[in-house]
Amino acid sequence: MTEREFTPAHRAAEPDNRRVLISGAGIAGTVAAYLLARAGLRVTVVERAPAVRAGGNAVDLRGAAVNVMTAMDVLDPIRARQTGNGAMHRIDRDGNTIAMLPADAMAGDIELPRGDLNAILLAATGTGVDYLFGDSITALDDTPDAVDVTFDSGAHRTFDLVIGADGLHSRTRALAFGPESAYVHHLGCYQAHFTIPNTLGLTHTGLLMNLPGRTFGCYTIHENREVVLGWFFRSAALTYDRHDTAAQQLLVADAFADVDWRIPELLDAMRDSEDFYFDPISQVVMPEIRGGRVALVGDAAFAPSLISGVGATLAIVGAAALADEIISAPADIESALTRYQKRVAEMATLGRELAVRSKDWFIFPKDATAHRITQSAEDRVHALREEVVAAANQACPHL
Ligand SMILES: Cc1cc2nc3c(=O)[nH]c(=O)nc-3n(C[C@H](O)[C@H](O)[C@H](O)COP(=O)(O)OP(=O)(O)OC[C@H]3O[C@@H](n4cnc5c(N)ncnc54)[C@H](O)[C@@H]3O)c2cc1C
Repeated sequence: MTEREFTPAHRAAEPDNRRVLISGAGIAGTVAAYLLARAGLRVTVVERAPAVRAGGNAVDLRGAAVNVMTAMDVLDPIRARQTGNGAMHRIDRDGNTIAMLPADAMAGDIELPRGDLNAILLAATGTGVDYLFGDSITALDDTPDAVDVTFDSGAHRTFDLVIGADGLHSRTRALAFGPESAYVHHLGCYQAHFTIPNTLGLTHTGLLMNLPGRTFGCYTIHENREVVLGWFFRSAALTYDRHDTAAQQLLVADAFADVDWRIPELLDAMRDSEDFYFDPISQVVMPEIRGGRVALVGDAAFAPSLISGVGATLAIVGAAALADEIISAPADIESALTRYQKRVAEMATLGRELAVRSKDWFIFPKDATAHRITQSAEDRVHALREEVVAAANQACPHL
């Protein structure tokens, strides 16, 4: 851990009235909003969706991310929403169990549905943050003294600092640093997730079916009332409309069309699901995640991808490190943002490496029909995950 602490002596002697705009009310955006508002800054969050979005896969909170949740006083509601799942069944294409994957190999210190975490973090920010739902930034003019921002709604406002926490397809990144194609790297596979009622009758467990080039997985949430289904398939970059859910569902159905067991029934349920999420599995690699009065955090800056299992942890720790540096140097934003970038660099690099190693471990194992995942492969993933958590602990302030 760093020596830096959030103590009253460490804060500015004068009230800090800087105006901060955060784009994105996801995991990183709400954590940064909470910490900056708590230190007295005037925080506005613009979120493109009309409300915080439900659903998505379960996310793991590890190491220092749990400490940040404690400092935000949200650990009790978070624990109440934990999946609490035990070992997962690795199944063959007929649904027969061929191996067990230990619970601690798949989940972090705490695992809960992404949408539940987001709702809890949003509620924690309370009335101290000004939210603009259903809007987005369309233009940024970053001058030495301030950032002039234009919104989709047509409004213009001026801020001292803009934080892009708007996820993998960040608009802030595109406006301030250039097109997505320069920074987002496709890992050669796609994922879809959605939630349905627990028609599989699972109890605090999950299933994982590896097939050549494809993997289906699922696990229970909300005290076994529902299951989250995850679908992964290898593919070169596909062309599709990101706003056309039916077209994306067709891609998933096509990829699993030849699989029997209960797959056809689960694919049928996909069409009625309310939280369908589809995206390429991608990572963000940027040489600079700050410039002038703009900084990026979370997936917008250093997405490791879902298969790393550390995306939410890095988003939370990154937001805490960024807030810490901003609060610590009220008079010198550029130096604060440079220190932030250095502070999170190692965890970001290791997180991306972990995703690549994990992809070959459980999503696309070399022998998809192997009856057990080799202990050495599991050990290598485990060791690297420990390194990521140690780097995140190092980057995170004491709160
Ligand atoms: C609804 C949803 C479901 C998800 N499901 C999965 C999943 O199944 N698998 C997976 O790997 N990852 C998923 N993710 C991404 C995952 O949440 C992140 O990898 C992780 O939480 C890192 O957090 P983040 O805060 O950086 O990004 P996110 O949690 O993705 O938050 C980004 C926020 O920015 C908002 N936003 C996006 N564009 C704009 C814009 N132009 N203006 C304003 N706001 C904008 C988004 O609506 C979102 O609220 C999902 C994200 C969302 C929003």
